[in-house]
Amino acid sequence: MQLDDHAEELASDLGVDKAEVKADLESLLEYNVPVEEAKASIRRNHGGDSGSSSSAPTAKSLADVSPDDGSVTATVRVLTKGTRSIRYQGEDQVIREGEFADETGIISYTAWEEFDFEPGDSVTVGNANVREWEGRPELNLGTNTTVAAATETVETPYEVGGDRDLIDLEPGDRGRAVEVRVQELDDRTIDGRDGETEILSGVVADETARLPLTDWDPHPELEAGASVRLEDVYVREYRGVPQVNVTEFSTVRPLDREVSDPETAPRMRVGEAVDTGGLFDVELVGNVIEVRDGSGLIERCPDCGRVVQNGQCRAHGDVDGEDDLRVKAILDDGTGTVTTVLDTDLTSEVYGGDIEDAKEEARDAMDKEVVADAIRERIVGREFRVRGSLSVDEYGANLDAETFEESGDDPADRASELLAGVAR
Ligand SMILES: [Zn+2]
Repeated sequence: MQLDDHAEELASDLGVDKAEVKADLESLLEYNVPVEEAKASIRRNHGGDSGSSSSAPTAKSLADVSPDDGSVTATVRVLTKGTRSIRYQGEDQVIREGEFADETGIISYTAWEEFDFEPGDSVTVGNANVREWEGRPELNLGTNTTVAAATETVETPYEVGGDRDLIDLEPGDRGRAVEVRVQELDDRTIDGRDGETEILSGVVADETARLPLTDWDPHPELEAGASVRLEDVYVREYRGVPQVNVTEFSTVRPLDREVSDPETAPRMRVGEAVDTGGLFDVELVGNVIEVRDGSGLIERCPDCGRVVQNGQCRAHGDVDGEDDLRVKAILDDGTGTVTTVLDTDLTSEVYGGDIEDAKEEARDAMDKEVVADAIRERIVGREFRVRGSLSVDEYGANLDAETFEESGDDPADRASELLAGVAR
């Protein structure tokens, strides 16, 4: 049956305007609500029988809530509450998302209306719709849902509140609070849903980890070097690593203590690191087995920074390229390989000269490749310790190096470390 037919059927059953139910139906389907459930929900909204046997919600423990339940009533503890704005039928709508828990389990919720509850509250949620999201049940609180204070505190083994260390953040987390130091922060202009928008993009750290951050509604309190408490942030995955997202609903408050950075990055085998799918901050040790093409003295597009080949940018066509230095080196430790990318400064260090020196050498030889060759001679066949950000995607496994140092490890230490690794 087509959407139109469903709307027709609903309109005639309920004796209402077809255009009205069709619009409701469309918006529910847009949020992946199954069509039968969407129709049942519209019937309920219009005072009709939902046509479903589970129309009278039963009180349930969270462990027993299943996607097959039409709607349920549950007495729960509010663990977290996050705020987000979504575009809904061309208009911005504010929704709240988070987690409820009881003694038996935990469940995510989305509230489409404003309800009076905060993390820590014990409440009875009446007539919440259950839907399936990524294989798990989730509660939807809408116009037909009631929320009332519970008579007793709901005991739960789950942590109340959104406070977390950076290392514990996971994609999909909502309503989180973190205390961090801003390590880097840059202004960026993006082509957002409302045209060109200014955002802030950077890196934050606490004692446990470093993670990328985006502030979609630039907060003046967020500045490089500042130690701040961020409340009501959400986490999503960007190139395999969790990213902290600050929005218009988040609060940023300066702390009167200095948050310290993690001194070391977790050290991993190359194969193990690649298997994680991406790590924002990791240390790898391996041999440089090859310096790839596109290393040495290169040209970048002045508009987008992409590497220019034969005067052509992939996005901007014919451009006047700007000189730069870069190394793409393959690092191998026997368990796997990654391409380590060195920026201008790190490349200058391994080359032993700056861009002007490289241009001069290339001019003298009448060949740019001499710069890459000089770098090859210095690093191929040697062992390096690299700390940086690893992304694993359709471009392969790439490690953006922050530090790149010849490994000064004592071979005896290394041997015992390897043996320990084997025994693990
Ligand atoms: Zn370009």
